[in-house]
Amino acid sequence: MAASPPVLNDPSLWINAVRIGGHWRDSAASGERFGVHDPGNGQLLGTLPTCGAADTRDAIDAAQLAFKAWRKTTAEHRAQVLERWYDLMLEHVDDLARILSAEQGKPLPEAAGEIRYAASFVKWFAEQGKRVGGYSIPAPTADRRIFVAKEPVGVCALITPWNFPAAMITRKAAPAFAAGCTVVIKPSEFTPYTALALAELATRAGLPDGCMNIVAGDAPAIGGELTAHADVRKLSFTGSTRVGALLMRQCADTIKKVSLELGGNAPFIVFDDADLDLAVAGVIASKYRNAGQTCVCANRILVQDGIHDAFVARLAEAVNVFIIGHGAQDGVGIGPLINADACAKVERHLQDALDKGATLVARTPLPDGLDPQRYSAPVLLTGVTADMQVASEETFGPLAPIFRFTDEAEAIALANDTPFGLASYFYSDNLHRAWRVAEALESGMVGVNTGSVAVEMAPFGGIKLSGLGREGGEAGIEEYLEPKAIHFAGLKS
Ligand code: ADP
Repeated sequence: MAASPPVLNDPSLWINAVRIGGHWRDSAASGERFGVHDPGNGQLLGTLPTCGAADTRDAIDAAQLAFKAWRKTTAEHRAQVLERWYDLMLEHVDDLARILSAEQGKPLPEAAGEIRYAASFVKWFAEQGKRVGGYSIPAPTADRRIFVAKEPVGVCALITPWNFPAAMITRKAAPAFAAGCTVVIKPSEFTPYTALALAELATRAGLPDGCMNIVAGDAPAIGGELTAHADVRKLSFTGSTRVGALLMRQCADTIKKVSLELGGNAPFIVFDDADLDLAVAGVIASKYRNAGQTCVCANRILVQDGIHDAFVARLAEAVNVFIIGHGAQDGVGIGPLINADACAKVERHLQDALDKGATLVARTPLPDGLDPQRYSAPVLLTGVTADMQVASEETFGPLAPIFRFTDEAEAIALANDTPFGLASYFYSDNLHRAWRVAEALESGMVGVNTGSVAVEMAPFGGIKLSGLGREGGEAGIEEYLEPKAIHFAGLKS
């Protein structure tokens, strides 16, 4: 099958090679290549060298060499490079969105939104890098001074998923570069082209050779090398809890610093005293963004008795107007899911819920010609209960399950009845309740009267099985720094 990449204003942003050191490498040690396909129609977009352990070692060596010089540059210099990278991302937002949408499937305007969101981390960490200070501590004796300096960790391995092919990379790489670290990135094999285009723009921005290496192909082999290699001092991973736990175990022997952003099972609670218009808009934003394929998307919608029916009626209206189709088509709100397995999971959750007594309130038929192995129409279910699969598993698709509850205590108990703790949302106009519930919910992020908690200036991350460490905000750069305590002793007065 002939490859047909998206048509770009700057075709040099479509790169059929991986990035190791200062070179685009178009063959891997394996001699093999893997294909990347448009999830909306199965069309082959391009092929890339299938990297394994040997290519990954080369990338780590390049990153280690580059680290020696990059760590010595000034924070001001690194900020300037990041600012230029930010400018270039915005200058090329249309091309980057086309690449992202082609390989990931999300509608073009949403893809452009992700590029702007991804760029916001570059800008934020360009600024934060200049504020990495140290501090001094009162010493226990008069002849001593203690200073704490912050130093870059070293070479960092960044492993990212397919659902946000740009933002998950900049949220890790930008603080790493700002701190003085260098990186080896393994993007998802479904969405590597966005990462490669970002690396090309970083190079144009003046990022030195070897600072941003990208390998893709055999994920377990690459992950095995990244976690076993002694020169890699940190792993930052976004993806499933299963793979996160595996990588964390693999990092144990070389005692790496680890941050993990893993799965969620976000509750979205609507109390009787909520502003219904706001709550409906919040569910739409949280549940259906990226066709429901986000780790912070509302997975369980809990609605109080008094407004249950009115809320469901309004939500059904909003769900029924979505246009489903290929991401490049005008007006589309819901693109394809990433693959047939993702579509099958939605159907499995739907069938399981219906078998156990849930009611199907809304599901628009798929438009003619759309393959149900690629596309999934939004679903709204009521009468959902804790014994159904949707209650305990992330659907990662456009299925909105409504649970009914009577009082606040019941809602909190239901919301916290999960081993995950990434995001929670609730809607209420009662100030006292708002504080009570925000404090009672067990999650790293809480949206009060909003369905969105992802902004560059706030810490993003989870507790329990949802992860370790934070990205973005002031905390985001600390993940790439180590404090060094310098004790000056024997000072004569
Ligand atoms: P998702 O369900 O979001 O695809 P995964 O955890 O499967 O989540 O994938 C997230 C990232 O982890 C992807 O880049 C994927 O290729 C990578 N990955 C999957 N398995 C491994 C592994 N054994 N070692 C290293 N990376 C892996």
